[in-house]
Amino acid sequence: MRATFTFKGELNDFLAHSLKNNTFSLEFAPHQSLKHLIESLGVPHTDFGRVLVNGQETHPDRRMQEGDQVTVYPADAPLEGEPCFLLDNHLGQLATYLRMMGFDSLYRNDYQDEELAEVSCQEGRILLTRDRRLLMRKQIRLGYCIHQTDPRQQAVEVLNRFKLPGQVKPFQRCLRCNSPLQVVNKQDILERLEPLTKIYYEEFRICPSCNQIYWKGSHYGHMLEMIETMAAQAEGGLGG
Ligand SMILES: [Zn+2]
Repeated sequence: MRATFTFKGELNDFLAHSLKNNTFSLEFAPHQSLKHLIESLGVPHTDFGRVLVNGQETHPDRRMQEGDQVTVYPADAPLEGEPCFLLDNHLGQLATYLRMMGFDSLYRNDYQDEELAEVSCQEGRILLTRDRRLLMRKQIRLGYCIHQTDPRQQAVEVLNRFKLPGQVKPFQRCLRCNSPLQVVNKQDILERLEPLTKIYYEEFRICPSCNQIYWKGSHYGHMLEMIETMAAQAEGGLGG
């Protein structure tokens, strides 16, 4: 039995070279579902959205039929509520950028794949990874395969995919451990401040978990500029 497939947009990145940006024919066994065939071509179920079969929107669990013409679109549904991420071991710098922008981004450099899958399920976190095989695990419902290799471009990619530029809130989250920051009275941390910081700054925040202190010094201006650049690139529709 045979069907034809067309993949749209960035989904082509997942396909073998000869299949990219092409409509191609594929042989399948009678019991195979759309989802099964799409994943067998390298596209994880977390990353595709609408599937049209002969022009009709169709559930991915449907079994394939002879002569089906299948068109697959990238997932682009916006998030419901606050975004909540879990990042794979190789995405440490991206985790820092997402925290900088105020997004809840759980990251450790020693999670095993099994743990990542479990935490993503239990806490309803969107698993970000460059490992598409990890996203093909059945239990994972929320995930996204990062295509870019440069961490800033990865941040732009995440802003785009989840339509987040309007939700960026700098100075809200600890860059080291992801906890939400709390306002702290300058008097209470005075002995921990450098002499010049004591003189020039009045507004401080502290991480309740790791005790790191934050203030809007020159590093803060630099960070804001970086965030603005990334958000502007995202709104400009990179990767469209
Ligand atoms: Zn912290």
